[in-house]
Amino acid sequence: MSSIVPLRTFVSAFSALLDQTGDEAQILEKGGALLADLVAEDSWLPELLAQPDPDRYQQFLLHADSGGRFSIVSFVWGPGQSTPIHDHTVWGLIGMLRGAEYSQGFRREADGELVPDGGAILLKPGQVEAVSPTIGDIHRVYNAYPDQVSVSIHVYGANIGAVRRSVYREDGTIAEFISGYSNIWNESKP
Ligand code: FE
Repeated sequence: MSSIVPLRTFVSAFSALLDQTGDEAQILEKGGALLADLVAEDSWLPELLAQPDPDRYQQFLLHADSGGRFSIVSFVWGPGQSTPIHDHTVWGLIGMLRGAEYSQGFRREADGELVPDGGAILLKPGQVEAVSPTIGDIHRVYNAYPDQVSVSIHVYGANIGAVRRSVYREDGTIAEFISGYSNIWNESKP
């Protein structure tokens, strides 16, 4: 049976980092390095928290900081699955554990229109990407593989499953959403 010690070590180190600094650039740089260490090894994620669903991508809560400073989620992509275009409203770090995913960033023009911000970024195992309202917060993420499961580990600067944020529809409308978690009862789900 695999050991979750690497996750436990990561939680302690990330918590200590947030004790030291509230500066976003520092958190993304140093926290990103901690996340890179965590996803360098693919042995610690419990199988139950790596299960795809045929209908939609899964977001399993791995840890919620008691002070609400950060949360950790495993994102499990079934073959070909994709998010809508969405934002976060807080900083986020994405570390690729298994398989691969694309992230396509978007920016809003003065008239509110969403346009792609550069090309899609391919994340491979061990690689880390960041989002935030400061550096670019709107993106669409999708499994790079049409025929296999991919898993990434996300860290956010809030209890992300409870954050009120937005999805951006193809027709230009914006809808509020609260993502919840696939493995936790919450008010956003029936
Ligand atoms: Fe995202």
